[in-house]
Amino acid sequence: MLLADVRFHTSNLNLVKSLLVNTCFPDFFINKHINRRIQTLCKKSGDANRIDDNVDNNTFNRILIPYVRGSGESLERILRSVELFVVNTVPKKLNLLIGRGKDKIEIGHRTGIVHKLDCKDCDLCYIGQTKRYLDTRINEHRAGIKKHSGNLSVVSNHRLTNDHDFDWSKRNILHYESNNRKREIAEMFCVKKNPKTINLKRDTENLSDVYDGIVTNT
Ligand SMILES: [Zn+2]
Repeated sequence: MLLADVRFHTSNLNLVKSLLVNTCFPDFFINKHINRRIQTLCKKSGDANRIDDNVDNNTFNRILIPYVRGSGESLERILRSVELFVVNTVPKKLNLLIGRGKDKIEIGHRTGIVHKLDCKDCDLCYIGQTKRYLDTRINEHRAGIKKHSGNLSVVSNHRLTNDHDFDWSKRNILHYESNNRKREIAEMFCVKKNPKTINLKRDTENLSDVYDGIVTNT
C-alpha cells in the first residue's frame, strides 16, 4: 500500500493473504487485520489512493537528541512545530563512568597457556605449556639447571651443553586454552609449526602426521 502503485494493490494483497493462509492463519483473522491496516492507511492519507511516506508518525517522526538543560526544552518546542518529536537521551551513561570491574590479569599470572622461551645466544627456542601461572613455569625452567644431570630438561640441557641462556624476562604467549587436552594439542601444533625449537620429537608424536598439511598451511 505504501510503496506499490495502486495497480498492484489487489495482487499484492492476494499474495499476502495466500502467504498467511499457508502459514495456517485463519481466514477471518487475516481479513480482519488486513482491513484494519487498510483503513488506518486510508484515514491517515485522507485518500485511499494517495501514498504518504509519513503515515506512521510514531515510527518516522521521532528524533533522538542528548538532553542539554536550558536549551533542550526550546529545541523540543521548535522541532515539535515541524512535527518532529524529540526523545531525549543521556549524553553520559553510567557505563562510561564506571570501569569494567575486573582488574586486568598480569601476564605472569595468566594460566592455561602455551608459551615460548627464546635463547639469548642462538636462534633456537623452547615451546611449552602449563595450566599454572606462566611465571611459575618459567621459574621452574630457570631453576632446572640445578637438578642432577640425569633429570635435566631439554631447556637445561641446551644451557649447559652450549653455555647458552634463555631470555627469562620475555614472556611469549602463543595460545590460551584452559582445557588440558586441547592445550596439549595446541602445544604440539606450535612445536610442529616452528622449525627452530629444541623440543624433543616425542613432544609432538601424539599429533598425527595427517595434520602436517594443516600445520604448514596455517
Ligand atoms: Zn641457544
